[in-house]
Amino acid sequence: MTTKVLRKVIRIDEDKCNGCGDCVPACAEGAIQIIGGKAKLISERYCDGLGACLGECPQGAITVEEREAEEFNEEAVEHHMQEMELATDELPCGCPSAAVTQFERHAATSTSPTDIACEQSMLGHWPVQLTLVPPTATFLNGADLVLAADCVPFAYAGFHRDFLQDHALLVA
Ligand code: SF4
Ligand code: SF4
Repeated sequence: MTTKVLRKVIRIDEDKCNGCGDCVPACAEGAIQIIGGKAKLISERYCDGLGACLGECPQGAITVEEREAEEFNEEAVEHHMQEMELATDELPCGCPSAAVTQFERHAATSTSPTDIACEQSMLGHWPVQLTLVPPTATFLNGADLVLAADCVPFAYAGFHRDFLQDHALLVA
């Protein structure tokens, strides 16, 4: 039996919802999907109730309310996101920003360690966020891998030149 607790969770007013889908990418937990032309909370367990999606709705259709709901379950969210990522990787019609893509790298224009300008991207694939890359991504096959903290590419001026020419990248 599912235990319910009193907590904050979203409510979607279907009369106001026009199905535009703006709220879907706003939810990092993948809790909202468009079904039958309307936004639906697919599982209370995926909704943390913090309201990150609220400001994205042009119709004012989403509100956070306190009610009896299933407890937020971070583990279930993680599992759900992994399944969504795999599905996106498999389907060419999936969200383009999450689709696994490989690029042709350009040759570096400078190898000087004092030259901090890096004019061309050396990134060889997309996506790069650890949570968005499925283990089956072809760019990981036999790759030398750089695992970087989110802030490193901003703090290290020569990041592309020094690390990305011959490595795959994951950021977390
Ligand atoms: S409140 Fe947070 S977790 Fe819940 S649907 Fe909105 S963005 Fe997703
Ligand atoms: S952003 Fe608002 S109107 Fe658009 S699908 Fe989501 S709930 Fe519906």
